[in-house]
Amino acid sequence: MTQHTPRDPVIAIDGPSGAGKGSVSRAIAKALGCRYVDTGAMYRAVAWMATHEGLALDDEPALAALAERVELTLDDQTVLVEGHDVTRAIRTAEIDAAAARVARMPAVREVLVRRQRAYAAAGGLVMLVMEGRDIGTTVFPAAQVKIYLDASSQERAARRASDPAHGLGGATSVLSDVASALEARDHSDRTRKSSPLTMAADAVRVDTTGMPLEGVVEQVLDIVRDRLAARFRA
Ligand code: C5P
Repeated sequence: MTQHTPRDPVIAIDGPSGAGKGSVSRAIAKALGCRYVDTGAMYRAVAWMATHEGLALDDEPALAALAERVELTLDDQTVLVEGHDVTRAIRTAEIDAAAARVARMPAVREVLVRRQRAYAAAGGLVMLVMEGRDIGTTVFPAAQVKIYLDASSQERAARRASDPAHGLGGATSVLSDVASALEARDHSDRTRKSSPLTMAADAVRVDTTGMPLEGVVEQVLDIVRDRLAARFRA
C-alpha cells in the first residue's frame, strides 16, 4: 500500500519582490473562491507598529513580543493594525526597508510563522492562497501546490515603480532608486540565516517577464488544477 504524506490545503506562492505575487495571488484566490493571506503584509505591519511605537529596529525580543501581541486583520483588500487601516501606510520605501530588517530576525519569524499556520488551521479543509518568501519551504512544506513566481530584475523594478499601491506614482525618474532599493531588499531576503528566499524543490517556477497579468494567472491556474488533479489521482 502506498503511504501518502498528508498535504496542507494551501497554495503557496513565493518569489522575490515585484514578481507579481500580490496581483496573481489575489486573482487565483478569487477564481478558486479561496481565502488569501499576504504574509508580507504581516512583516510590514510589525515594522509599521514598531516605528509607530518608537521601538528600536534591532531590539529582537521587543519586536518578537510586538509580533505576538499586535492585532492584525487581513483580507484581500485591506490591512488593519489594532483596528487602524494601514493598507497604504505599510507600502512606503521606509517600511519596505524596515520590514526586510524585521524579517531577518528568527524570533520575529517564529511568531509570525506560527500565526500564518493558524490561518490554515482556522480554515479547516478550505483551501488558502498564501503569498510570501518562505511559504513552500518553511511555513507549509507540505502545501498542496507550490508556485515560485519570478521575473527579470529590470522588469520587477519597473513594475514596482509604476505600482500605485506603493505610492510612487509611476515617476520614471525614481526607477533607478526603486531598482537599487529592490536589489538591497532581495539581497537581504536571499542571504538571511532564517528562512532565506529560495525556491522549494517541488515548486513550479513561473517566469513572468514580459507576460501580462491575465496570462500569468491563467498559467498558474492551470498548474494548480493539474497539481490538485494529480494529487487526487495519487
Ligand atoms: O511581500 P512584501 O514585499 O510585502 O514583503 C515585505 C518584506 O517582508 C519582504 O522584503 C521580506 O523581507 C519579508 N517577508 C518575509 N517572508 C515572507 C513574506 C515577507 O521575509 N513570507
